[in-house]
Amino acid sequence: MARTYLITGAGSGIGKRTTELLREQGHTVVGVDLRGAEVEADLSTRQGRERGAREALDATGARVDAVIACAGLSAPSPTTVAVNYFGVVDFLEAIRPVLASAEAPRAVAVSSMATLHPNSSELVEAMLAGDEQRALTIADGLAGDPQTANQIYGSSKRALSRWIRRESITDMWAGAGIPLNAVAPGVVITPMTEELRASGDGMALVDASVPMPLNYHQSADSVANLLIWLASEANTSTCGQTIYCDGGAEAVLRGEDAWAWADERVLAYYMEHVAPLMQRDS
Ligand code: NAD
Repeated sequence: MARTYLITGAGSGIGKRTTELLREQGHTVVGVDLRGAEVEADLSTRQGRERGAREALDATGARVDAVIACAGLSAPSPTTVAVNYFGVVDFLEAIRPVLASAEAPRAVAVSSMATLHPNSSELVEAMLAGDEQRALTIADGLAGDPQTANQIYGSSKRALSRWIRRESITDMWAGAGIPLNAVAPGVVITPMTEELRASGDGMALVDASVPMPLNYHQSADSVANLLIWLASEANTSTCGQTIYCDGGAEAVLRGEDAWAWADERVLAYYMEHVAPLMQRDS
């Protein structure tokens, strides 16, 4: 059945390809971007997000089946924090009430395998606390030092993926029947990486930090197709996940045992919630 999608970052790269593929499948898409989309809005500012969300909802007649948040920046600057974290979270929260009234609502964002890269925990915590002013000030400090400037992008994506895990299981999302997830690409062939891919030194650095044993650099389609599935009616039960669609980079970096870090937490949960039921039954 034809659905109505809101897509941020629809003017270029992954967002543009996702928009094209969905339209080819007969769906309606309202794009939001700085330029080249139905709604032109600057998601780096609070006013821009509010206006962008309002105009996007107006354009759909307040009927949205899914939101796909692709807009993002990779520059080592505070604006990256404003767009990649607050531009996604504020936009999703603004659309959520209308989304909740859809029959099969879905929300997906584009994170990154850079969630795994060295990051600033101070910056990540400021974002997760919703303190945009403090986050921008911390990012400004990091941007001034070439040793720390590169932590800004990874920090914005780490915070986004953590926000998605945290919020996805609450009454606002899972409780309202809305699967909320993210896709984490590796190096995608889009305008964002064009300059980097054209430089030998830049490429050596990127390939060392994003090792992609499966098929090397990926197409925008490889990400768009997963976003489309996560935003489709077929996705009934994937919740809070950041799915690494990155040619194997996450598996290389995290290694074979990506589970043990949470064993103590799971054991504590088990002791509190499961063990008492077993005692009662015995
Ligand atoms: P892109 O540069 O081709 O597209 C990004 C889009 O976001 C552009 O159309 C741009 O105008 C829009 N945008 C930027 N700032 C904005 C703002 N203030 N307000 C509204 N729109 C704004 O890049 P892409 O590769 O398609 O990136 C899409 C997403 O994928 C981003 O979130 C990016 O971080 C993420 N990502 C990309 C790669 C990659 O290798 N290209 C890897 C991992 C994650």
